[in-house]
Amino acid sequence: MLKQAKLAVLRAAETVGVSSLVAGGAWRRGRLLILCYHGVSMNDEHAWSDLYVSPEFFRRRMELIRQARCSVLPLDEALDRLQRETLPDRAVALTFDDGFHDFYRVAFPLLEAYGYPVTLYLTTYYVGFNRPVFDPACSYLLWKGRRRERLDWPEVFPGGAALDEAGRAGAVRRFKQYAHLRKLSGAEKDGLLRQLAERLEIDYDDLCRRRVLHLITPEEGRDLAARGVDLQLHTHRHRVYRRRNRMFQELNDNRSRIRELTPKEPRHFCYTGGFYLPEHVSQLREYGICSATTCRPGLCTRATDPLELPRLVDSMSQSDLEFRAWMAGTADLLPKRRHEMSEDQLGEEDTPGA
Ligand SMILES: [Zn+2]
Repeated sequence: MLKQAKLAVLRAAETVGVSSLVAGGAWRRGRLLILCYHGVSMNDEHAWSDLYVSPEFFRRRMELIRQARCSVLPLDEALDRLQRETLPDRAVALTFDDGFHDFYRVAFPLLEAYGYPVTLYLTTYYVGFNRPVFDPACSYLLWKGRRRERLDWPEVFPGGAALDEAGRAGAVRRFKQYAHLRKLSGAEKDGLLRQLAERLEIDYDDLCRRRVLHLITPEEGRDLAARGVDLQLHTHRHRVYRRRNRMFQELNDNRSRIRELTPKEPRHFCYTGGFYLPEHVSQLREYGICSATTCRPGLCTRATDPLELPRLVDSMSQSDLEFRAWMAGTADLLPKRRHEMSEDQLGEEDTPGA
């Protein structure tokens, strides 16, 4: 369905009152909307990636949730009440992925002000090694350096790299591949990012001082847990693996780090990048995971497999109208965009490198 046609239907549904009928009815009461965010900008991150939203945008979203009189529930309680068919009207659960420092600095104070509970799916390698997260940081740096159009660095980019809109994705891929093929350690990757920043005349130390694209520290994690944030599993190295033992090791590594931050046992999981294979569902079940969220848009029902929960990844390209339609439930009745899963999320079995 064309985007314009879909918006016209949603607008008409609001105008003639169908939206509020759906929003207040039994059909929606039997469903849960899980929302997903990644980052809220400390500076210009939302201009760089669709996974970031500006603080103004995020505040407006929280305000729309309030105006729609949604019941924002802790994830645990929401899933439990979904099964027992006791959800309140317009049930919503809020989740953040990864655990970037900007969650601590920008997003959480806003959530606290609204009194909304939140689940943070925390990937833990970069919590301990508290430096810029390699994959997003190389993409961010190359975006910051886009005005120079080309980068000549023969060792990393034989033949040079185009940094304009069309060439940048290729440059990011080649940069990541360079590090991957050499099996660089976390510290070596950090050194490589510093070299990239220097070549692009970006102040790397300043970026680090401001904690851009850093994850929370263990102290910040403990503070968040003490203030009611629900810390849950997202793998240690932000990778899933085909082999059961390797996947279990990843979960063990992630869980043991989270246990150091909170007395609450983590039992909920979020697929990294929304990527998963059929074997992951059975592995998670065997591991004792209660729920796992995907990035497939939709509302959860009692019949949904708790290890394949749909979730709406919100972004600044989604209009207020679409967002209201998701809270009401009407958006779930229309054809939905597909979430493209990327095999980038699949780690190599023999390399535990982060
Ligand atoms: Zn993630």
